[in-house]
Amino acid sequence: MSRPDTSATGLPAAVLTVDTAALAANWRQLRDRAAPGRCAAVVKADAYGTAIEVAVPALAAAGCETFFVAHASEGHRARAVAPGATIYVLNGLLPGAAGDLLADGLRPVLGSLEEVAEWTAVAADAASACALHVDTGMNRLGLPAEALPLALERLQPALLMSHFACADEPDHPLNARQIAAFGAARTMARGVPGSLANSSGLFLGPGAAHDLARPGYALYGGNPTPGRTNPMRPVISLEAAIVQVRDIGPGETVGYTARWTPTGRRRLATLSVGYADGYFRAASGTDGVPGGLALVAGVPCPIAGKVSMDLIVVDVTDAPASAVRRGEPVTLIGGPLDIDAVAARAGTIGYEMLTSLGRRYTRRVTG
Ligand SMILES: *Cc1c(COP(=O)(O)O)cnc(C)c1O
Repeated sequence: MSRPDTSATGLPAAVLTVDTAALAANWRQLRDRAAPGRCAAVVKADAYGTAIEVAVPALAAAGCETFFVAHASEGHRARAVAPGATIYVLNGLLPGAAGDLLADGLRPVLGSLEEVAEWTAVAADAASACALHVDTGMNRLGLPAEALPLALERLQPALLMSHFACADEPDHPLNARQIAAFGAARTMARGVPGSLANSSGLFLGPGAAHDLARPGYALYGGNPTPGRTNPMRPVISLEAAIVQVRDIGPGETVGYTARWTPTGRRRLATLSVGYADGYFRAASGTDGVPGGLALVAGVPCPIAGKVSMDLIVVDVTDAPASAVRRGEPVTLIGGPLDIDAVAARAGTIGYEMLTSLGRRYTRRVTG
């Protein structure tokens, strides 16, 4: 990545780059996989940390016409940048919220008979501008299948949807049960388009695709096929500047709690990024428990000691000396350090890492 022009502001401490060309390419790949069905985009949680105002216009320009958010507030933000799009609010209808959704053309994903009753009462002629969520085994949101006929007497939704619990484990028996249950639900709602597959669901075979796919994670570069090669392009990268370099020897320790001790003389670089930026403290490296990695001129360097609020110390002994200098950028996400790998080293999943990306980064949009 080229160094930003810092003549006015000085070197940025940490730079998060969002590659909208890769985002669009990922959507097109998933669209092709979803065909002959169509492909929406899930942009909840601020488009998985990439920003709704960045991701939605890029996806719309690529041809995406339908977006899913979790909250009405996110729906309003998506509407502001995609005036003509179809926008569904996954978390359904909170009491008293129907008027607000209607005014901005947002469609609730209704998941209970109470929500259906409230929506039909307020939306009246526009009541079909919604989705019905039927639960097929996740037990989180959605109507039980038994309640579906009653809901369908009250309204004809624009979409019937359900959601996989374990699509990222292709051999999990719940996948087949959910596919069968959704097929049965669709026979009760003839003529209503169906939507079942999230990112990983699109890789479960044709029985999971239906009429509208709802990928999120894979759009942003996450691997929808864990354990296999990631077919998606990386969308985000993160670099942080070195603020200090020091050498230490045996008998010393690094960072809070003093739980990292050097074996012999080591060179350390302190980076301007920490858990306040969403870089998980669980990626700390202590004696016996290795943590996250940073790439210094392409060389993997382990985190030394606890991740602190605003700083991380990295053991850069093996990196080329020319790259270990105050102000030099170090890669924390990018190249072989993809979001799945980085998250795994912090004991979490890439979804949580993306949606924790901090607000303090200098954000750069490419593509
Ligand atoms: C988050 C979500 C998705 C997208 O899931 P990914 O695994 O990120 O592709 C799809 N549908 C529903 C109901 C969701 O909550």
